[in-house]
Amino acid sequence: MWKLLTRVVNAVEIRVITAWFVASAVLQGLTLALMIPFLRALFSRSESLTGWLIAVVILGVSVLIVDTTAMYRSYRVSVFEICDTMIDRIAEHVLTLPLGWFSAEREAAVVNATSKEVNTLSHLTSMVIANLCNAFIVPLVMLGATAFVEWPLALIMAATIIPLVLVLRLMGAATTRANEMEDRTSSAAAGRLVEFARLQPVLRATGVTRTGWAPVRSALEDDAESMLDGLRVKGRPGQYFNLIVNVAFALVMAVGLSRVSGHRLDVVAYLAIMAVTARTLLPLTKAAMYASEADNTKVALRAVGDILDARPLPDPEPGQEIAPQGTTVALSDVSFSYDEGRPVLAGVSLTAPQGRVTALVGPSGAGKSTILRLAARFWDVDDGTVTIGGVPVRSIRAATIMSMTSMVFQDVYLFDTTIRENLRIARPEATDAELAEAVRRARLDRVVEALPRGWDTQVGPGGLSLSGGERQRVAIARAFVKDAPILLLDEITSALDGENESAITEVVRELSEGRTVIMVAHRLSTVRQADEVVFLEPTGAGARVAQCGTPQELAAVPGPFRDFIEASTASSRWHIRQG
Ligand code: ADP
Repeated sequence: MWKLLTRVVNAVEIRVITAWFVASAVLQGLTLALMIPFLRALFSRSESLTGWLIAVVILGVSVLIVDTTAMYRSYRVSVFEICDTMIDRIAEHVLTLPLGWFSAEREAAVVNATSKEVNTLSHLTSMVIANLCNAFIVPLVMLGATAFVEWPLALIMAATIIPLVLVLRLMGAATTRANEMEDRTSSAAAGRLVEFARLQPVLRATGVTRTGWAPVRSALEDDAESMLDGLRVKGRPGQYFNLIVNVAFALVMAVGLSRVSGHRLDVVAYLAIMAVTARTLLPLTKAAMYASEADNTKVALRAVGDILDARPLPDPEPGQEIAPQGTTVALSDVSFSYDEGRPVLAGVSLTAPQGRVTALVGPSGAGKSTILRLAARFWDVDDGTVTIGGVPVRSIRAATIMSMTSMVFQDVYLFDTTIRENLRIARPEATDAELAEAVRRARLDRVVEALPRGWDTQVGPGGLSLSGGERQRVAIARAFVKDAPILLLDEITSALDGENESAITEVVRELSEGRTVIMVAHRLSTVRQADEVVFLEPTGAGARVAQCGTPQELAAVPGPFRDFIEASTASSRWHIRQG
C-alpha cells in the first residue's frame, strides 16, 4: 500500500503528517495517564496536587498545539496534494492514452477515480491516519501508565491486543475483497449506464427502453448484491472487534473491583484507571471503522494506479517526426488483435488512394471498423504498418493525425452544451459564418430553425435531446467545419429511417468530395458510390482481404462481392414485395 501511495501522493508529506499525529496521540496518552496521579492526589488531598495540575495543563496545551498543527497540515495535503494533484495527474495521463483505450467501462472508471476514489483518498490524511493514531497509540500509552500503577490490569489490557490484531487482519483481507468486488460491479454498472445512454437511438427503435434493458438491469442487480455482501462481510469483524474491546473492559473492571475489595488496590487509583480507560475506549471502538476506511484507500489507490499504468501511445521524439506527403492511407501486411489469442486482422494490405472513396465491405465482425480506427491510430498494430501519405503513423504526431482526419461514427456523442459549441469543438477558431455554412451543407439548418432556441439550444447529456438522425447531422456538420482532408465514416446510415438515410447519403456524398474517404459500407447504394471496394472475409485466424477493385470490376467476376450484390438485391426486392 505504501508503494502505491507514494506513487500517487507526496511521500514526504504523508510521513510528516503521520509523525505529527503520532506525536499528538502520544501527548494525549500521557495527558490521560497523568490524570491517574492527579486524581489520586486530588482525593487524598496530597500536597503534590499543584505539581500534577501544572503538568496536566502543560501537556493539555501541547496536545492542543500539536493536534491543531497536524490537522491543519493534513487538510492542506488533502486538498492540494491529493485532490488537486491527483485529478490533474489522471487528466494529464488520460490525454496521452490511445483513443482505443476509451471503452464505456473505462470512461466510468475515470469518472469514478476523479470523483469517488479521490474523495476516499482525501480522507486518508485528515481522517484515517488521524483516527488510527488516536485509536491505537493513546490506549498503548495508557497501558504503559497502568502497568506502573497496577500491573495485573495492564496484563489483561495487553492480552486483548492479540485477538484485536487477529480480527483486524481478518477484517483487512475481507474488506479488501469486498471493496474490490464492489468497485468492479459499480464500474461495470456505471459502464453499462454510459452504454445505455449512448445506445438510446437503437434501443428506443426496438422499444427496449419501455421494458428495461437486460444488461443494465443485471449489472445494477449485481452491484446491489455485492454492496449488500460487502456490508455483511465488512460489518461482522467490526462487531467482533467491539465485542472484544468491551469484554476486556468488563474484565478489567471486575478484576480491579475484586482487587479493591481484597485491599490490594486503592479505590481512588481504581476509579482513576477506569475513568481514563473508558475515555480511550471510544476511539478504539471506532478503530474498526477507520481500519476499513484504510482498506477503501487501498482499493482507491489501486483503481487510480490502474489508470496511471495504462500505456500511452508514444509520440515520435521531437525531431524524429516526419510530415505525411499527401493523404493516401495504406495498410501493409497488418495483423492486429484486441485480446491475445483472438486475432482480428491477419496480414491485411489495402490502399485508400488520396481524394477517392474506398468502401470496406464484408460480414459483420470482419474487422471493418477496426481498420478505420487503426487508420486514425486508436491502437498500434501488432505487425505490419499503417501509413498516411507514405509515412508510418508511429512517425506522425498524434495531434497531426487528429488534425488531418474527421470521423463520423455511428455512436455520435455530443457534449451537453449548445449546438453552436458542439460544432465549434471541431475548430475553435471557426467563425459564425463558417458554422452556418457547415450547418447548411449538413442539412442541419431546418433542424436548428425548428429548435426552441435555435443554435443556442442545449442538446442534453450525450446529445440525447436530439434524434439519432439529428445527431448524425451535427457530426457531419462538425466534419464540414473541421474540413480535414481524410474522412473516416462508419456505416452511419444503418440505424436511420428511410428519409433520414437518403438525406444523409446525399450529404455524405457532398462531404466526401475532394477528400480521402474510408467508409464502412453495408448498403448496396453506398457501395455503388465508392471508387474502390475492399471486401474483407473473416477466417479463424483473423480477417483477410478477399477482393479489392472498383465496384464494376468486382461485380463482373464471381466472388464474395458478387454474392453480396445478389443478396442485397434479393433482400431489397423482398422488401418491396413485403411493402
Ligand atoms: P465490423 O466493423 O466488421 O463489424 P469490428 O471491427 O467492429 O467488425 O470487430 C472485429 C472483431 O473485433 C469482432 O470480433 C469484435 O467483437 C472485436 N472487437 C471490436 N472492438 C473490440 C474491442 N474494443 N475490444 C475487443 N474486441 C473488439
